[in-house]
Amino acid sequence: MVETNEIICVACPKGCMLQVKHDGNDVVEVIGAGCQRGKDYTICELQDPRRMVASTVKVKGGLHPLVPVYTDQGFPKPLIPQLAKKLREVEVPAPVKINQVVLENALGTGINIIASRDMPEGN
Ligand code: SF4
Repeated sequence: MVETNEIICVACPKGCMLQVKHDGNDVVEVIGAGCQRGKDYTICELQDPRRMVASTVKVKGGLHPLVPVYTDQGFPKPLIPQLAKKLREVEVPAPVKINQVVLENALGTGINIIASRDMPEGN
């Protein structure tokens, strides 16, 4: 059975209101998209929704006890709670360099967790 949902495309600031006709898994039709990117966003949002994730991890011997980190690409939305739990277990030794991989292949997704700033050793 084909259903219709309305979603707002957030792939650019224009924010088109899209009508998505789908059968639960496959997109049948996207109405109202201003461009192909919006159609691709809609299909991804329905079949494999992903979000960039920003968090912190512990630093051993750092100037501060935590360093901010982020995913190097959109992370599968259903796995984000598991990722948050995993990141609470991660501790990296100081010094940490910006763009350093602090967790490789997080939860087997092929997505790396990257430091977003330097964290030098503490006193
Ligand atoms: S459909 Fe295209 S033009 Fe419209 S918000 Fe999405 S990316 Fe922007």
